[in-house]
Amino acid sequence: MQEDTQKDFLEPAERTTQQTRGIMQAVRHAYQNSPYYRKVFDNAGLKPDQINNFPDFQQVPFTRKDDLRDAYPYGMAAVPMERIVRIHASSGTTGKPIVAGYTKQDLDDWAAAVARICAMAGVKASDIAQISFGYGLFTGGFGLHYGLERLGATVVPFSSGNTERQLALMQDFNTNVLVSTPSFALYMAEIAIELGFKPREFGLTIGLFGGEPCSDAMREDIEKFWGLKATVNYGLTEVVGPGISGECEERTGMHILEDVYFPEIIDPESGEVLPDGVTGELVLTPFHKEGFPVLRYRTGDITRLISEPCPCGRTTRRMDYITGRSDDMIIIKGVNVFPSQIEEVLAGFSEVSPHYILILHKQKGFIKDLEVQIELTPEGFSDSFRQLEALEGRIRQRLRSTLSLAPRLKLMEPRTLERTTGKTKRIIVNEL
Ligand code: ADP
Ligand code: ZN
Repeated sequence: MQEDTQKDFLEPAERTTQQTRGIMQAVRHAYQNSPYYRKVFDNAGLKPDQINNFPDFQQVPFTRKDDLRDAYPYGMAAVPMERIVRIHASSGTTGKPIVAGYTKQDLDDWAAAVARICAMAGVKASDIAQISFGYGLFTGGFGLHYGLERLGATVVPFSSGNTERQLALMQDFNTNVLVSTPSFALYMAEIAIELGFKPREFGLTIGLFGGEPCSDAMREDIEKFWGLKATVNYGLTEVVGPGISGECEERTGMHILEDVYFPEIIDPESGEVLPDGVTGELVLTPFHKEGFPVLRYRTGDITRLISEPCPCGRTTRRMDYITGRSDDMIIIKGVNVFPSQIEEVLAGFSEVSPHYILILHKQKGFIKDLEVQIELTPEGFSDSFRQLEALEGRIRQRLRSTLSLAPRLKLMEPRTLERTTGKTKRIIVNEL
């Protein structure tokens, strides 16, 4: 760990040298060992020895989600399958799942990366961590499991679901670190309160949350309920799983393990590489992935790179919190909006809970109508029709003035929208 941690504190010149070496290594490995990338390079008329620095690297074509879907299941392999010891697949939130295969070395590197992310969030070997991510094809459960073990923490591999038992064991085992999606952390708190517990008395101190966006409002609620310090971390199956970036205790964005991955931000339309600070689509290249390497992978996640110094002293750039996936962008009557922007408006109303869903009524691929179902808090709910109507009017007004959006609103009674033990599905498409 000691040596690993130093990698977060490299001077800029050292970082550049190290990353240049990283991309060259990734390119050479992919070209020499992956039939898929050999073809990509040949089609582009590129040779690995033409790529020796960051500007050269921009000639390498992007790899897209659809490329990996087309390669289903093993078309991205760069080693014989007998060297692959584990398979994972993406959750399929936005389409057909994508498969990733890991060699023994990949699993070892992955555990080391996740251990660093957890340590950065403040987790110590003396902590007891309950993993409430699903164990299975989803990378979250196994990823955090081996990372936390590598760090030396005590792992309680609960997996997702069975909320009441989760709560009981959390108390019995003196668990102090919770690993889950932010929505499940909230849901568990709701159930705990319903069962007559005081979540704050559970003694949780740190939350490691990921797998889906966590708005400020959600984070505040989670912290208020549990009395823990909530940290978020980021990852995706196609690149490795969790263990790409995460917050340090300062919580100023998610530090990227820049000695393991090369991050770029591009304009999703033109593919042009954008400078630090400008928002666009995150593109990632892992340096050492043996099994299923990817080069310049377009994550679809919208964020920006933050290069201003962090008070923690780490010199790695941070990723800002993900504002959405490019596939989730809603274009309605000429207005482009991300669900997170609607969420931000809703968060301004104390009567509204963090639970909402967007129903896109589509005709011939176009969104004709957007319906927002908004769950009210018990305090915000009222039996008076007039009061509810007034609240609806205020929300509509705020959406219109901040987002130029006039969706249909439906206020829902408390606890009526479906809860999830994994990733929340915020968008439902209804073909008219
Ligand atoms: P799927 O795309 O099917 O959900 P994964 O299970 O691999 O596949 O999940 C990776 C995706 O989850 C990321 O591309 C991103 O959209 C989302 N995600 C993961 N961590 C975070 C986070 N901290 N904040 C926002 N989104 C996240
Ligand atoms: Zn920091």
